[in-house]
Amino acid sequence: LPVLAIVGRPNVGKSALVNRILGRREAVVEDKPGVTRDRVSYKAEWSDRRFTLVDTGGWEPDAKGINASVAAQAEVAVDLADAVLFVVDVNVGATATDEHVVRMLRGSKKPVILVANKVDDVRQEAEAASLWNLGLGEPHPASALHGRGVADLLDHVLTVLPKVSAVAKEEVGGPRRVAILGRPNVGKSSLLNKAAGEERVVVNELAGTTRDPVDEQVEILGKVWRFVDTAGIRKRVHLQQGADFYASLRTQAALEKAEVAIVMIDVTEEISTQELRIIDLVLESGRALVLAFNKWDLLDDDRRRYLEREIEQDLAHVAWAPRVNISARTGRHLEKLVPALELALESWDTRIPTGKLNALIAELTAEHPHPVRGGKQPRILFGTQVSTRPPTFVLFTTGFLDPQYRRFIQRRLREIYGFEGTPIVVNMRVRE
Ligand code: GDP
Repeated sequence: LPVLAIVGRPNVGKSALVNRILGRREAVVEDKPGVTRDRVSYKAEWSDRRFTLVDTGGWEPDAKGINASVAAQAEVAVDLADAVLFVVDVNVGATATDEHVVRMLRGSKKPVILVANKVDDVRQEAEAASLWNLGLGEPHPASALHGRGVADLLDHVLTVLPKVSAVAKEEVGGPRRVAILGRPNVGKSSLLNKAAGEERVVVNELAGTTRDPVDEQVEILGKVWRFVDTAGIRKRVHLQQGADFYASLRTQAALEKAEVAIVMIDVTEEISTQELRIIDLVLESGRALVLAFNKWDLLDDDRRRYLEREIEQDLAHVAWAPRVNISARTGRHLEKLVPALELALESWDTRIPTGKLNALIAELTAEHPHPVRGGKQPRILFGTQVSTRPPTFVLFTTGFLDPQYRRFIQRRLREIYGFEGTPIVVNMRVRE
């Protein structure tokens, strides 16, 4: 899906705008800066067009270092987005920070739409007009809080937002795209350096972007891979505040471009919520997944036993992901990444013929029928795989299936087809 990012200084109304676009009332709009939300991207829809909305407002820097952090935020958003909504509060007008960010946005050559927010009534429209000065073209007056102008704004967005994300348009048949993910110091850059060796080929892709999104093509065992967003790995960002949020956005930007993710885990540290959150982002993105346990050279027997327990407990939900135990420092077993990546991608691309799928469903439902609910027994009429990458199935049913039952089907699909390294999705449509 094409990506629309919302950028602007703290308190200009980014969250309110996100809520308005998503058509929700309940969600977070708080006046105090510094409110952190975990989620940064949402699926949105307008006039039958679907897109991903990225909210950079989850991380609100304080006045200190505000320039740097808003700029950093904008930079990631631009890497990730196909179009940007730049929000200014008309009651405040354009500040020096805004001007700084605008220069960067204009350099990006991505479509940027200027939103003059907090125009709650007609009288304020004159102030909106003064934002022509920013050089971003026509300011679009809106009141995110009251909804004024938002429909027009979205109509305009659809005229500049490409139908397909720039990422998806990339040629197929080129090297497969890999994101290396993990919290700071797990060894991402070490892995990259070891794998790339002297043979670094930097590819500056995604026409129109001037900075960050740099990929590197790396040959491992005679096969070329494209590691995406390596600039994000090599460039260290030192932020006091918002570091998690920034990392999360970075991770999503990389995932957006990748087909498969290597999530690196440091075996000398406990598996933390950070790892779990990264894995969640991979699952949410629907990309293939390989787990790389790094710093294996530092592992002793005690820690090893403990690690095994941790894996069993914390990573049970991704037990299907291939695991490799490596040392980015010594180069140990790096070559094992290749078959793991290949396996994950092969699963990600798997298509099960409808005939086979339905034979399986018939077998499963005969063996283990759905329990009767409210006097009726929901039946699966038939199933079909609607897409690959990741494999996505739709079951047509005569009633709602229990979540446990859906999980049962999902589990059996895995048992039979493996799907090692890929999430799978099972949806259902009730036929009345
Ligand atoms: P990044 O932040 O994920 O890119 O992590 P780095 O690649 O910068 O690594 C962080 C630190 O861990 C550095 O001091 C590395 O030398 C060290 N390191 C990375 N991989 C290994 C490994 O496999 N074994 C050991 N012993 N140290 C490692």
